Amino acid sequence: MEEVIKMEEVIIIGSGPAGLTAAIYLAREGFNPLMITGIEAGGQLLLTTTIENFPGFPDGIYGNELIDLMREQARKFGTKFIGENVTEVDFSSFPLKVKTSFETHEAKSVIIATGASAKWLGIESEKKFVGKGVSSCATCDGAFFRNKNVIVVGGGDTAMQDADFLTKFASSVTIIHRRDEFRASKIMQDRAFSNPKIKVIYSSVIEEILGDQKIKSVRIRNLKTNEMTTMDIDGVFVAIGYNPNTKFLSGKLDTDEQGYLLVEEEVKTNVKGVFAAGDVADRKYKQAITAAGSGAKAAIEAREYLRNIKQ
Ligand SMILES: Cc1cc2nc3c(=O)[nH]c(=O)nc-3n(C[C@H](O)[C@H](O)[C@H](O)COP(=O)(O)OP(=O)(O)OC[C@H]3O[C@@H](n4cnc5c(N)ncnc54)[C@H](O)[C@@H]3O)c2cc1C
Repeated sequence: MEEVIKMEEVIIIGSGPAGLTAAIYLAREGFNPLMITGIEAGGQLLLTTTIENFPGFPDGIYGNELIDLMREQARKFGTKFIGENVTEVDFSSFPLKVKTSFETHEAKSVIIATGASAKWLGIESEKKFVGKGVSSCATCDGAFFRNKNVIVVGGGDTAMQDADFLTKFASSVTIIHRRDEFRASKIMQDRAFSNPKIKVIYSSVIEEILGDQKIKSVRIRNLKTNEMTTMDIDGVFVAIGYNPNTKFLSGKLDTDEQGYLLVEEEVKTNVKGVFAAGDVADRKYKQAITAAGSGAKAAIEAREYLRNIKQ
């Protein structure tokens, strides 16, 4: 086992809006939290350009700028940062143990804010356009596609819901699904099928996304016939699910079947002193503001816990 370094009051794992908000609250109250940022420091907001729905920025703000401001606010009040991934935890006894590849940290309390990573198509050309026409978040980016033509990839409830939502802005929405039937509930399918702006292409996958600064078209393969077609398009919304970042916990906390942390009273995990914040425990909302809100709640609960164990 690696060297143990001094015991912290609270360790925050993850540096997206949830973790950084928790850090701001706890640092400001003098707890000097240690944040283990993860190697994708800053989280998902770094995958996008302008954020138009975070309160306080009427002209919008770039995702990286918003994160830089939050980080600065957390640092100013005394948050310490380590730019590593947590590889393992041991919550079986007090103090709680959090391990990285280099060291083991001990803490009285831990906030897990490791987010949920969107599943992407996994094709090379997709990477070039993430945040520039390829998105995993219809609620976040739908409004950028007013009077445009977009694709939604997926066949579950989220894909149906995203397609329906996107018709508020887009001129047309084409759902592309690799199978010849949807797994979405009947009610969600009916809603999509009855929307005149929505078309469906079954048994097909996007092979390539083409464009320069913006997306111009996609190449689609029909999996049954192998036929290739090209479709002019402005945006691609990938709605094929999320992976909550909880693998490093190796079952040490209760999760649902998809790996989302199970919580009581919004942020309390099944281990005393361990709290969850943001998308890692949120199957539904997945927004910067909701993540920040739950970061504040987790911080307040951690503070109460720390005060109680001191008495
Ligand atoms: C393309 C895109 C556009 C978006 N646009 C918007 C928008 O316009 N408005 C909006 O409100 N929301 C938007 N979102 C959603 C928003 O980004 C998320 O809801 C929000 O970032 C969730 O915050 P979080 O702190 O819970 O997790 P994340 O932001 O995902 O941060 C998770 C953090 O955990 C860290 N981590 C993961 N595993 C480990 C580990 N083992 N050890 C240590 N650290 C770890 C990561 O490095 C990261 O720092 C968008 C998302 C995407 C993908």
